[in-house]
Amino acid sequence: EAKADGSRQIRFFDHSMARDIAHRREIETELRRALRENELAVYFQPIVELETGRIRCFEALVRWFHPERGEISPDEFIPIAEESGAIVTLGNWLTAQAASVATSWPEEVRVAVNLSPLQLKVPGAALGIISAFREAGLPPERLELEVTEGLFLEDSPNIAMFIEELSGMGVRFALDDFGTGYSSLGYINQWPFSKIKVDRSFVSGSQAGRKSDAIIRAVSQMGKSLGMEIVAEGLETIDQVRAVREAGCTHGQGYHFSRAVPAYQAALLLAEERETAPEELFRRRAG
Ligand code: C2E
Ligand code: MG
Ligand code: MG
Ligand code: MG
Repeated sequence: EAKADGSRQIRFFDHSMARDIAHRREIETELRRALRENELAVYFQPIVELETGRIRCFEALVRWFHPERGEISPDEFIPIAEESGAIVTLGNWLTAQAASVATSWPEEVRVAVNLSPLQLKVPGAALGIISAFREAGLPPERLELEVTEGLFLEDSPNIAMFIEELSGMGVRFALDDFGTGYSSLGYINQWPFSKIKVDRSFVSGSQAGRKSDAIIRAVSQMGKSLGMEIVAEGLETIDQVRAVREAGCTHGQGYHFSRAVPAYQAALLLAEERETAPEELFRRRAG
């Protein structure tokens, strides 16, 4: 694993370690090829308003269909893309793709893109992202950037510039996977987040009990009083949907609503919404 601790690596540099390095190099080379040869695709997962059951946003998630290895998970190749710098090309490509798909959605439906801290290290990063988005003809208000707390550990002056510049243009920021890192209230206070995404470990999983529920309640309450949206990640059952709504979450995302799907299926979800009466839509998705 990418984040295997350094000390162990030094003490036990063995065959499996060498294999690991070789594997990473291979993925790195393959990824560059994949970008050229269109093996990557963008999938979309809806983020649903819990009060109405309506889709307010789609998160764009990269997919890699390798001709021999089959599907490779982003959890495996994103860290390698970050280390090799390929994440910049990948990120700009994905943003352009996602924006071009989003032009066919209703205006009030936003598109969310995940941003790696390393994408901000290159000069002109903000320009890259926003011009990829604008080329599709979408206003910056329809773009949402999902960042994790890891971003702020970088302590780079670029980050402040990036966030201020883009949020000045109307781009929205979401704090992703909240609860897995430092869960610092300082970041929420310091930066213009309009959304907190509570990590799915607080929702699903067998240990997610009363304690998780109390945490979700507290985060929701705080978010609400700051005028933020609170998204519960990883909703897989209707019971979870009801529970997080009851706990104060405003939005939800997860397999209960839909997995990440190709653009044409995202369009079908929106069509279903258009053709369904509001009460029926709520009942079907979130009731
Ligand atoms: P994330 O941003 O937290 O994205 C949500 C992940 O949770 C996605 O996994 C999604 O498929 C998964 N998920 C959604 N609903 C459920 C559910 O109900 N149950 C379960 N078990 N899982 C659910 P995915 O697509 O494999 O992506 C994993 C991570 O890889 C993402 O986490 C994100 O950090 C990163 N990633 C994916 N695409 C990109 C990208 O284009 N750029 C960057 N920088 N990172 C990306
Ligand atoms: Mg995300
Ligand atoms: Mg997330
Ligand atoms: Mg997560």
